[in-house]
Amino acid sequence: MRVLVVEDDPGIADLLVRGLRRAGYTAGSVSSGHQALAAAPEPDVVLLDLGLPDLDGVDVCRRLRRRSDVAIIVVTARGEEGDRVAALDEGADDYLVKPFGLAELLARIRAVLRRVHPVDASGPEVLRHGPLEIDLRTRKVTVAQREVALTPKEFDILESLAVDPGRVVTRQEILERAWDAHWYGPTKVLDVHIAALRRKLDVPGLVETVYGRGFRLGTADADPAGPVRR
Ligand code: CA
Repeated sequence: MRVLVVEDDPGIADLLVRGLRRAGYTAGSVSSGHQALAAAPEPDVVLLDLGLPDLDGVDVCRRLRRRSDVAIIVVTARGEEGDRVAALDEGADDYLVKPFGLAELLARIRAVLRRVHPVDASGPEVLRHGPLEIDLRTRKVTVAQREVALTPKEFDILESLAVDPGRVVTRQEILERAWDAHWYGPTKVLDVHIAALRRKLDVPGLVETVYGRGFRLGTADADPAGPVRR
C-alpha cells in the first residue's frame, strides 16, 4: 500500500513518512499540489494538506477524485473548517485536524481503506506482540488465547502502543488518541486507565513506563517462550 503525503512543511512531512514506513506502508512525500497531481505511480492513499503553496488544496482534491478512486484524507489546520467541508464535498474520504497523532492517522487510513477496498482491506487487521493479539476490526484482545475484556478507552490506549511496539508513545499522544485531539486537562486519568489495562492484560512488563517520556510495549515478554502469568 502506497501512501503519498502532500505537505509543504518538511518537518511534518518527514515525521509522517517515517511513521507510515514504520507501520509497514510504502510512503513518500511531495510539497506542492502540482507534484501531487503528477505523482506516479498512483498512490493508494493521499494524505492531503489543504494549505499548499501553489494550488488550492480543495482543487487538488477535486482533480484527484475526478480521475481515480484513490483514498483521500485531507489535513487542515484549526480554523479551516470551510475548506474541510468543501474537500469532503469534492470527494475526500476523511479529514484530520492538526495536530494529530500517528496512531490516529493510522486508524483513519485503515478505516478509509476498508471502505475503498472492502475485499482486500489492507493494513494490518490484527496486531500481534508476543502473547498479545489485537483484532482491530472486532476490537477483540487476547493474551495467549485468553480473551481480555477492555473498556473502549483501554482498547484505544493499547492500540496506540501496539501500532508500533517498542516505540515510546508520549502521554499527550495517548490522550489525543483515546480522549480528544485537544486534551489539556490533567494526565492523571491516564495512569488510572493504564493501571487497569495492566491488571487485565496480566503480563508483567508488557506495558512499560518510560519515566518522563511515556509508555511503550515492552520487549521482554515478546519472547513466546517467556512466562505468561494467568
Ligand atoms: Ca501547509
